[in-house]
Amino acid sequence: MVSVLVGDEDAVDVLDASFDGGEAGEGFALSKSGVHDEAGALGLEQCDVARAARRQYGNPQADRSPLRKFLKLRNPSSAQTNSQNDGRALDPRQQGLCDCNGGILPRQTMEKYDLIVVGSGPGGQRAAIQAAKFGKRAALVEKLEVIGGTAINTGTIPSKTIREAVLHLSGYQYQSIYGVNYRVKEPITMADLSFRALNVIKTEIDVIRAQLSRNGIDVLTGTASFLDPHHMQVTSSRGQSELEAGYIVIATGTKPAVSPLVPFNDKTIINSDQILRMPEIPKSMIVVGGGVIGVEYTCMFATLGVRMTLIEKRPRLLEFADAEMVEALCYHLRDRRVTLRLNEEVESVEETPDRLVVANLKSKKKVSGEALLYAVGRQGNVDELNLAAAGLEADARGRIVVDENYRTKQSHIFAVGDVIGFPSLGSVSMEQGRIAAAKAFGMPTNSNRANYPYGIYTIPEISFIGKTEEQLTDEGVPYEVGMAYFREIARGQIRGDTTGRLKLIFDPGSKLLLGVHIIGEGASELLHIGQAVFALKGTVEYFVDTVFNYPTLAECYKAAAFNGLNKLVRT
Ligand SMILES: Cc1cc2nc3c(=O)[nH]c(=O)nc-3n(C[C@H](O)[C@H](O)[C@H](O)COP(=O)(O)OP(=O)(O)OC[C@H]3O[C@@H](n4cnc5c(N)ncnc54)[C@H](O)[C@@H]3O)c2cc1C
Repeated sequence: MVSVLVGDEDAVDVLDASFDGGEAGEGFALSKSGVHDEAGALGLEQCDVARAARRQYGNPQADRSPLRKFLKLRNPSSAQTNSQNDGRALDPRQQGLCDCNGGILPRQTMEKYDLIVVGSGPGGQRAAIQAAKFGKRAALVEKLEVIGGTAINTGTIPSKTIREAVLHLSGYQYQSIYGVNYRVKEPITMADLSFRALNVIKTEIDVIRAQLSRNGIDVLTGTASFLDPHHMQVTSSRGQSELEAGYIVIATGTKPAVSPLVPFNDKTIINSDQILRMPEIPKSMIVVGGGVIGVEYTCMFATLGVRMTLIEKRPRLLEFADAEMVEALCYHLRDRRVTLRLNEEVESVEETPDRLVVANLKSKKKVSGEALLYAVGRQGNVDELNLAAAGLEADARGRIVVDENYRTKQSHIFAVGDVIGFPSLGSVSMEQGRIAAAKAFGMPTNSNRANYPYGIYTIPEISFIGKTEEQLTDEGVPYEVGMAYFREIARGQIRGDTTGRLKLIFDPGSKLLLGVHIIGEGASELLHIGQAVFALKGTVEYFVDTVFNYPTLAECYKAAAFNGLNKLVRT
């Protein structure tokens, strides 16, 4: 049996779309609800074309150019006319064609699919596309008018684009060369940051919509809830419809957790979904929560010169990362005048009459700032799913339990992405979606979760794969460490990044690579060299015997390997 892997031609198309630049910037606005609406979404979209073509001509997978056929369908002379029979062509929506951006299937219809996917984030997208690649009929249900999920609309893409804008405009990367006063733009405003983010979001949505369309996936707008283990109801302001499927993938993601202690006001007391709604960059800011989201935003605003206070209940930040890398990050944070309040818990948050925000800590300290970002955990989006009708349930944090193949206790229902909990990464959610679809249709997969990398977009970045020193010590596994410093590598000097470092952890006997940990700009890209060696069960000797382009940061691998192996010689 031959399986088709998601990402084959899609990867090429993504690149094409990136170079084209899409139609970024047109008709795009932040709605009051914080959801990125697309004005202008009322025209015929790719999904309309694909769906119409399949209705008329069968699976568009069989005919890769359904557009011409659909144009015939749109021709008034051949199209259906409206009920008054006045000769006007029916709006395609009235023909039940437009199940994306503007409508759902007509009331009372019961559409049958091989796979229903709930949620259009990275997990849902990959599950639906993988099913389509297997020749299956897939529906993707998204309750928002805009596709892409948290990853595109409020999480990964906006935060990483804001980060890029911050690094560029603040001149951060070149301050070690041109001096700490070097800036590309001053003052930097929220408008500068959101301008860039919204353009990238718009383009990404176009790219994803094109991928779904090209693969013949029906994108339905509405909230999906179970009627029974094989049937779902899709409800939107435009009506209801029922869907039936042999398999279902739940990829509904998460939303920021709320706290009765925090009076969110959408402007100065916000969660991470509301960052772009801050009217201006505050002079001082409190971040509650030392997880990935809290620390990433702390770094971004600190780089803009905002006086930051980071409050975390636990004794250290980013507990799952290597302690040495986190210590190095804390050094950078303090160097940027961030106040770290570790082992501290927030008791209440209030606004003062002079528009300051005060966080009252259990230790009786008061921390004040012009704004507060509450980044303590996220809650699974399960409330609207009516899980009980499918014989399923979620835990108190809205997480659904799955087995190693992402099956719930109903073997035909899978759950992937953030709704199943850790690691809650877009990268991993995509892979889980792909695997779930493959398992559903009995196709082979070869994915090893021990080889999944972590990228934390702090400033500087942290990225790693494999075990940390603490984990190996706890497990009683002997190891040796090789370290390379960006400042000792020519490319580090050229880029002005003299504080980064790369650490290799390896077995002193077999020399097998056990972990790679990097802190420094570009860490999340640089890691992938180590990831390949790690996944292929290579040894640190590979790096010694390999010639890397010069001058590159990749040379850090060679320097770290020499450093580690030389320690073995000395002992
Ligand atoms: C600020 C921030 C920064 C991040 N940065 C990174 C990063 O740098 N790298 C990284 O890999 N990950 C990052 N993440 C995590 C990443 O965004 C998530 O892991 C990823 O979006 C999860 O994908 P998903 O498919 O599980 O769900 P989501 O992307 O959350 O999508 C779920 C979708 O389901 C829809 N939905 C929910 N309920 C229903 C229903 N009943 N019916 C229909 N539709 C429904 C929702 O509207 C939503 O569109 C970040 C997250 C945040 C918040």
